[in-house]
Amino acid sequence: MSAPGDTGRGPADAPIDLLDLTRAGIESLVQGWGYKLFHGRNLFKWIHKHGLTDFEAMTDLSKPLRQRLAATCTVALPRVVLEQPAPDGTIKWLTEVGDGQRIETVFIPETGRRTLCISSQVGCALDCAFCATARQGFARNLRLAEIVGQVWYATRRLGVAPSNVVFMGMGEPLANFEAVVATIDILRDDYAYMLSKYRVTLSTSGIVPNIARLGIVSDVALAVSLHAPTNALRDELVPINRKYPLEALVPACKAYLRGDRRRRITWEYVMLDGVNDGLGEAKQLIRLLEGTPSKVNLIPFNPFPGSGFATSPPERVEAFRQRLLRSGLVATTRKTRGEEIAAACGQLVGLVQRRRPPLAGAAARGAEGARP
Ligand code: SAH
Repeated sequence: MSAPGDTGRGPADAPIDLLDLTRAGIESLVQGWGYKLFHGRNLFKWIHKHGLTDFEAMTDLSKPLRQRLAATCTVALPRVVLEQPAPDGTIKWLTEVGDGQRIETVFIPETGRRTLCISSQVGCALDCAFCATARQGFARNLRLAEIVGQVWYATRRLGVAPSNVVFMGMGEPLANFEAVVATIDILRDDYAYMLSKYRVTLSTSGIVPNIARLGIVSDVALAVSLHAPTNALRDELVPINRKYPLEALVPACKAYLRGDRRRRITWEYVMLDGVNDGLGEAKQLIRLLEGTPSKVNLIPFNPFPGSGFATSPPERVEAFRQRLLRSGLVATTRKTRGEEIAAACGQLVGLVQRRRPPLAGAAARGAEGARP
């Protein structure tokens, strides 16, 4: 039998990637070696708050601990292969995640805000009709290190941490539940990125059972890709709707707020010319959201070759928005950023070596990775 704290690891083992561990994970690792919990906390802080990867430089850790770390652990940073700055200040990073797979991360500077848009999967399985990522198919979930690594990297590259993080890059975050929740924990942690619950937004296409699960472990802001006010239309645009229709989705989102009046759901609504952008749809939307604290974020459709959709004229978007405002809803129009570098919503494609092609029955694979 091995001694307590002996991980049984020999020097020949692959090193432990500390970016793959939460604070609790790092604390128990070093406690297992006989050190105190606060040594683990300090190590976590060196990595995430101070951005250090060289254990020798972590001066408040004892020499034997630093040596043990150097012998058994690593901080495996993301391999960024391309940085694309846009004239509006938006920056897109393309990161290699092995097997020739690539993911994208986007930094969006605004007055008073530095938003980082991160990816949670390589590709996406949900097959939304108007999304370029969907066309790539799904390859795999990202590991914690690969998700939080995007934040680690951007913080070091920019010299300042993001003020807001949104899970709005490639992938469906609620289909990679554990790694996404672990990332949220690190984003919120006082010894790491210190972001308040209002400054972390998870955007989902609506994996209903996992909205409830998220509500148990987290209270970050929730954005939902609604895009249609009726099941008939949403079945076509967001096929996961066939599995989790509006009558299940909307109450689950309302329940997520737990009656906290300071919070509301952000409903994302991509404006598709002649498809979902009429005043009739606006009225249906108003009815659908009645009784749920809501903010509607209209997104001008970002076209890509072969999408089959066109962008609604700005006047129609504004008329739609005015209709929502008249009913008392909060409604904004998302400003498109980073168009020149294909960094806008739904344009992130990275490079996905597809393990399997998109299927016709999109709803069937909708809950990929979702464990109710
Ligand atoms: N999979 C998650 C996270 C993606 S967030 C989700 O569906 O919420 C990206 C947002 O951009 C989503 O609301 C998505 O529906 C929207 N989007 C996708 N393709 C788009 C496009 N071509 N133009 C504008 N918005 C798009």
